[in-house]
Amino acid sequence: MKFVGAHVSTSGGVENAPVNAFAIGAKAFALFTKNQRQWAAKPLSQENIKAFKENCEKYRYNPEHILPHDSYLINLGHPEKEGLEKSRKAFLDEIQRCEQLGLDKLNFHPGSHLNKIDEEACLKTIAESVNIVLDQTRGVTAVIENTAGQGTNMGHTFEQIRFIIDFVEDKNRVGVCIDTCHAYAAGYDLKTQQGYEETFRKFNDIVGFKFLKGLHINDTKKDFASRVDRHELIAKGFLGEEPFRLIMNDQRFDNIPLILETPDEERWKEEIRFLYGLVKNK
Ligand SMILES: [Zn+2]
Ligand SMILES: [Zn+2]
Repeated sequence: MKFVGAHVSTSGGVENAPVNAFAIGAKAFALFTKNQRQWAAKPLSQENIKAFKENCEKYRYNPEHILPHDSYLINLGHPEKEGLEKSRKAFLDEIQRCEQLGLDKLNFHPGSHLNKIDEEACLKTIAESVNIVLDQTRGVTAVIENTAGQGTNMGHTFEQIRFIIDFVEDKNRVGVCIDTCHAYAAGYDLKTQQGYEETFRKFNDIVGFKFLKGLHINDTKKDFASRVDRHELIAKGFLGEEPFRLIMNDQRFDNIPLILETPDEERWKEEIRFLYGLVKNK
């Protein structure tokens, strides 16, 4: 069974995320547990936590199908001490928020070398950051998202993701989320059945499906291997309908959150319905 949802708003409090997800017919959802564009955040209150858990129960969302996303400011591979410490501290806070909410995953963008250290040093720093934070927390898996490889962002190849995983000590608490827009922009074909099979064969050989904790299902405004991260509505960009039809009929993506991060939240309900409509032999 497929669990399609979207990255919903938490405006007014984290407890509104499950309400917003239910309103668009989502079976899964993503959320920010704090403002994604600010470093500081006030702690979650007992009321927030209680209401979040109650709403998840009421609308039947369990942690397996909830994929929190960390702040865009965090760079776990930061080349400089101050930026790195700040990022690690913020990442720890985010993992702790997930713990408080009873959630078991946190999705993050690996990090950027900012042209100040080499790629390998950056990847090792990222793994070290994950180790430091996992050491201080329990029950939450750090989920590495593949990137489009824009600027100096790392994580745009499966080899880079594997490299990070290899240096993470607790292999049970590290996972991967594949973003279809990022993969295509990074040079992984998904557009045709042949390209799709080949890309996921490579993913399995290099990383392994056992690490896959979710997908971000987005079409792309920028073409193949452009290394530019611009999401587009499903079937309206360079990917078109085919990769999403393949995903919706591929058992390897059963029971994990499949999250829309497409640009128009007014259309999520329709996009979710469209995606379920692609399933054969319902
Ligand atoms: Zn994404
Ligand atoms: Zn993106």
